[in-house]
This record gives sequence, C-alpha cells and structure tokens, in this order.
Amino acid sequence: MYYTSTRGAPAKRPFLDILLEGLAPDGGLYVPDHYPRFTPAELDFMRGMGYRDLAFTILSRFCDDIPPEDLRDLIDKTYTAEVYGFGRADSDFTQITPIRRLSGEGEDVFILELSNGPTLAFKDMAMQLLGNLFEYALDKTGRDINILGATSGDTGSAAEYALRGKHHVQVFMLSPVNGMTRFQQAQMYSLPDANIHNIAIRGVFDQCQDIVKAASNDLAFKAKYRLGAVNSINWTRVVAQSVYYFKAYFAVTQNNGQKVSFAVPSGNFGNAYAGHLARQMGLPIAQIIAATNENDVLDECFRTGIYRPRKETHHTSSPSMDISKASNFERFAYDLCGRDAAKLARLWQAVDSGGAVDLKAEGLFEKLAELGFAAGRSDHAARISTIRRVWEGSAVMIDPHTADGLNAALPCKQAGVPLVCLETALPAKFEDAIVEALGRQPERPSLLANLEDLPQRLTTLDAEAEAVKALIAVQVGDRTPG
Ligand SMILES: *Cc1c(COP(=O)(O)O)cnc(C)c1O
Repeated sequence: MYYTSTRGAPAKRPFLDILLEGLAPDGGLYVPDHYPRFTPAELDFMRGMGYRDLAFTILSRFCDDIPPEDLRDLIDKTYTAEVYGFGRADSDFTQITPIRRLSGEGEDVFILELSNGPTLAFKDMAMQLLGNLFEYALDKTGRDINILGATSGDTGSAAEYALRGKHHVQVFMLSPVNGMTRFQQAQMYSLPDANIHNIAIRGVFDQCQDIVKAASNDLAFKAKYRLGAVNSINWTRVVAQSVYYFKAYFAVTQNNGQKVSFAVPSGNFGNAYAGHLARQMGLPIAQIIAATNENDVLDECFRTGIYRPRKETHHTSSPSMDISKASNFERFAYDLCGRDAAKLARLWQAVDSGGAVDLKAEGLFEKLAELGFAAGRSDHAARISTIRRVWEGSAVMIDPHTADGLNAALPCKQAGVPLVCLETALPAKFEDAIVEALGRQPERPSLLANLEDLPQRLTTLDAEAEAVKALIAVQVGDRTPG
C-alpha cells in the first residue's frame, strides 16, 4: 500500500514514511492509493472477532511495510481493558468499545462508548496506537522527534497520555491559561513524566496555534529541533478510528445484510471520514450524519453545497467541536472529485486563500447523498435538554458533544435502521454543562477520583513564539549530547 497527496504530488510513499508526517510537501493530505475492500465472506468471518483481531485485520491492509508480528504486538499492547478501562463502572471494558442502548430513545438507538481511555475522550482510541507506533518507528531508526502542539482540551491530553514515557519523543504542548476546564487542566498538568512539557500561554487558543505555526514555519528551527505533530490530519489516527465502526456494526446487527447509521459529533471531520473509509472497505453503512454545534460549517456545506471555512469561531458548551475549518474534509472532497488530484488542488486553492467551494456548481453535490452523508446542527439549549432527556429516559449520562450527535441524527433516523451515536467524551470532562442540565455533578470514573489534588507541573509564558522556541532549545539541547 502506498500513499499519495490529495493535491497530486507524485511520490508514492509507504506507511512508515508518512507515519511521522503532517501535511504532504504540496500542502495536501496523505491518502492511500486505493481502498482495500473486504468481500462478504471476509466480513462474515470478521463478525466473530474481538477488537484486537479486528484491528489487525483492518490495519494490516494499510501498513504492509510493518512485519505482521510487529503490528500484532503493537495492537495487542494498545487495545487492552487496562488502557480502555476508565469509563462507567458498569461498562464491559473487555469489549474496548462497548455498545449501550438508550432505551428511552427507541428500540434501536445506541451510543458507542469510545471514551473509556485514559483521557476520557475518543481521541485515545487512535492516539494510544499512534504513541506505540511512533516509539516503534523511532526505535528502529534511532531518530528523535519533538512534538509541538496547541490544545484547547482533548487533543493535548490524548497526545500526552499516548506519548508519556516513550523513548525518542518529547512533547511540548501549549494551552491557553484558564482556557480549559479544571478537570482538563489537572489531567495534563499532573503528568509527572520528564518527556512531557506543559506550557500555559498568557493568551487564547488561537495565539497558541499561531505560535506553533510560527515555530514550524521557521524551517531552520524545525529541522534543528526535529519538530513533529500529532494533529488530526495524521493518517494513522484516521485509519485506526475506522476499526470501531466495524466493531459497532457487528454488535448491533445479526447478519451483514443489515445496514446501520452513525451519528458523528464533528469538528475536523476525522472521525466522520473514518466512517466513510469503513464504508469504502465494504461495511454496509446506511448514513453517516455529521453533527456540528453553533460552529456549523459542515452543516451548511451538507445543506447548501457551499463549503465555507469561517474566520471566527464561537466558544460553545461543546468546545471540542469549536472548529471553523474541517481539515480532514479535504480527504473526503478528494473522493467526491473522483480522486482527481488536479481538480481537488484547484478547488482547495480557493479554500486556502480564505474563499469557499461550491459543490453544486462543480457537479459534486449529488454525490454527497449517494455516499450516504447527512448533517445536522445543535445549539446550547438543545444540547442541555438532550442531556436531561437521555438521563431521565435512559438513565445514561451523556456529554455535550454526544448530545450534539443525537440532536443532529435523530431527526433523520430511518425506520428499521439502527442508529449508533459515537460517544466522543465522557460527561466528567464537562462539569458546567452537566450541572446546568441535571443540577448535579457528573459521574467521575473512580480511578480519577482525586485528579485535581495531584501536584501540577507547568511553565507559564507570554504569547510569544521566541519564548517558546527558547524553552524548546533548552530542553532538547539538554537531552541531545553534541
Ligand atoms: C476531537 C473531538 C471531536 C471532533 O472530532 P473530529 O474528528 O475532529 O471531527 C468531537 N468531540 C470530542 C469530544 C472531541 O474531542
């Protein structure tokens, strides 16, 4: 399997080559040169598999440059009940991604529990594997890498918990002072590992991101300090996320003649694209419903055909979806264009320069529905009332992002087609919204009961790229003799 850029850079690169990379050199995103497809007989066989076998069956098609026994080991040590065992007390952690019926929402409405990993958000599903793959690849080559990132919550903590204590990797994670919930701060800042550096910036999230960009655009600095990224355009994250669509499908159907729809709380569109990928591999998916909050770029696109990234981002009570440019949408648009890289590159030139793409004018709009995509939008009031309704009707506490997913998907639910809403975070991370909805504190996994009491480690800096670069230089310099 080889990877090419959505914008057509001709190089064909194997998986291990693109593992540590962000954007392709031409500014596009890496995509596989074809989608492997499972036959009906193979799908029948996969129905009986546990999570690790399923992950191996799927991922081995995408990274055939890793010896199968090595990939097995990496998967076996990632997807365990210990790593994914932080969720609700009555969850079956041996399933890795247990499925839970919401009895008050109808016969066949489910949530797929993806947030039982160490940071209580679905990003752990792929990031934990990415951490192990990074260490494997860096051990092989003896190279070091320094991950520089900015976070407003879930990505930073997922990256830190995936890379803590790993050889050859240091993590420098910028977050806005007071920009995260107390729980999220405690999660990140309490990590004792020497290779994790939390940097609180006196500013807002956008300033953190600007600093990351400034440091990465300084090519001499980037090369000298071997900067890398683990952001959501990383291909490995996307492909690892396709596995749980299979797991959920088999859990709610009796045979492969049935179809299932998925509700996906969306921001950068990585999770929704992973569903698309599962369908391209042959999984019988009816609809994939991308849910947005008040930042509704994707909802607008699926309704009107106009993809128009915004300049401003609203701060909402489902903050992990506060995104006004859905980076992974480019991968999906590449398929809409019939994998015509020249066409995609032309359309995305407009996006990159602050403009919009009109899918109708390009004759691509019908394909959206053909591919089974729909979208919907939720706002604060709807989010709060859904959290309350599900608590009262199904005795399940859901977080604000999962509530957005249900809000978008329930109106388009088809009779007889089970609906699985991906649970992208646990309510414990978002106390304020839960208290507003239910008048009580969210349930907290017992393993994390005293999180806020642990000692915290962080450095606070002004919002200046030079200050951050100086800190990296000192830390990396300290550890790299010569
Ligand atoms: C990251 C995140 C999302 C958005 O996922 P994308 O793959 O970026 O679309 C939704 N909900 C939560 C809780 C998240 O952390």
